[in-house]
Amino acid sequence: MKKLRKNIIVKSFVFFMLIAASILLGCRDIVNGVESEKIAYITFDDGPTKYTRQIVDILDENNVKGTFFMLNNNMIVFKNVVKKLVDEGHGAGFHGVTHDLSKLYETEDSAIEEFKTCNRTFYNITGKTSRLVRIPFGSKPNMLESIYNKFLEEGFLVWDWTIDTEDWKSSQDQIVSNILYYAREKEEIVILLHENQRTVNCLNEIIAILKERGYDIRPITHDVKPKNFW
Ligand SMILES: [Zn+2]
Repeated sequence: MKKLRKNIIVKSFVFFMLIAASILLGCRDIVNGVESEKIAYITFDDGPTKYTRQIVDILDENNVKGTFFMLNNNMIVFKNVVKKLVDEGHGAGFHGVTHDLSKLYETEDSAIEEFKTCNRTFYNITGKTSRLVRIPFGSKPNMLESIYNKFLEEGFLVWDWTIDTEDWKSSQDQIVSNILYYAREKEEIVILLHENQRTVNCLNEIIAILKERGYDIRPITHDVKPKNFW
């Protein structure tokens, strides 16, 4: 009788432990599931510039990757920086040649030609190509649908943004608070920054805040479905 009771207690204990373990494992999966869905892409337009090396260093120190949408002529001037950021696994894409709407959309083909030129320059520097593009001033509303379709036909991946930090007119504090405000309740964010001294100054803080909020900071790669205004 005593043995039977002991047996029941042992079996109940094992059963209880199995239930507890499965609940804990289940919870962990759910927690991980939610965490892994929070993704932030930090993007830098208009480079490379004299600031790029500092930006890359800050990203490296924080063990995260950013994405650079580069202008053709700047790539030619800062070849070594282009090589460095590509070698280190940061995302690399293009931002055109002229950065001028009247020239970009002068003809049906002028925009696509600008980005093909970027790709040739990038190939000459790195031996690689990229299909990532960011249209100056965003794809919408300036870009005609027919021109957008040409980009798709050429295999380009058009990336706009979900958070405009307005860093060209904001103080460092405003840049950070813009991100905090516009990122609320968003699972996947694409942050638009430009290469300038203010961005350099507040980049550490931006990264810290994103990490604190549970975002996985990743580079944009070809296998990610582009986030754009279409
Ligand atoms: Zn730009």
